Amino acid sequence: MMHHQHSVIAIDGPAASGKSSVSRRLSSRLGYLHVNSGIMYRALTWSVLRSGIQTGDSGAVVNHLDGLDICCGISGEEATLTVDGIDPGSELKSSEVNTGVSTVSKIPEVRDVLVAKQREYLDVADIVMEGRDIGSVVFPETPYKFYIDASAEIRAKRRMDEGIEDNLAERDAVDSGRETSPLVIAENAVVIDTSEMTLEEVLLELIDRLREQGLDILN
Ligand code: C5P
Repeated sequence: MMHHQHSVIAIDGPAASGKSSVSRRLSSRLGYLHVNSGIMYRALTWSVLRSGIQTGDSGAVVNHLDGLDICCGISGEEATLTVDGIDPGSELKSSEVNTGVSTVSKIPEVRDVLVAKQREYLDVADIVMEGRDIGSVVFPETPYKFYIDASAEIRAKRRMDEGIEDNLAERDAVDSGRETSPLVIAENAVVIDTSEMTLEEVLLELIDRLREQGLDILN
């Protein structure tokens, strides 16, 4: 169906499993573009909350999305995003967004719109994309799929060390239990439990696996 000449490495896993840190390191090592698909769901949630809409009112959320200009771009090695011209910045990680994002993300119409934007990145660059459904739904045809996991205790600790209030267990339950594109281990994904690993060790493991799978990686 798709005949891109670009490569995509899919990195899925639960909240605070270390996906972002390792995706950023991997993309910079390979010279690929780093795309965090979670910020798209966060940006919509941020805008919804700002407009006084209840995240549980899916009709109103979809209506709001219809009139919204979510603009995805690239700056250096990072994907960028604005909502009606505004970059929400650190507000994307607020506890209000953490609380509402999984409710917004389970709406099928929301996923249709944001997945289409995610796929557009592959037309322009080699990418490392992290999320929940990248290997299973967004790019199921990529041979390079990882599922990055860590124990619940370690994930809670990592998030606490960042000083951010986050309802990890609730988000994971909603993300894994939803009907449309739940968090799953994609078929053929390499599962890595990072609980006892350093970032450097995870990075080396990913590079080893990618080489085994035939990706051309210099030095
Ligand atoms: O990755 P991050 O924790 O920032 O994602 C925030 C939320 O966005 C997730 O809890 C999930 O509800 C949603 N999400 C998703 N699909 C993705 C990426 C994120 O549903 N591919």
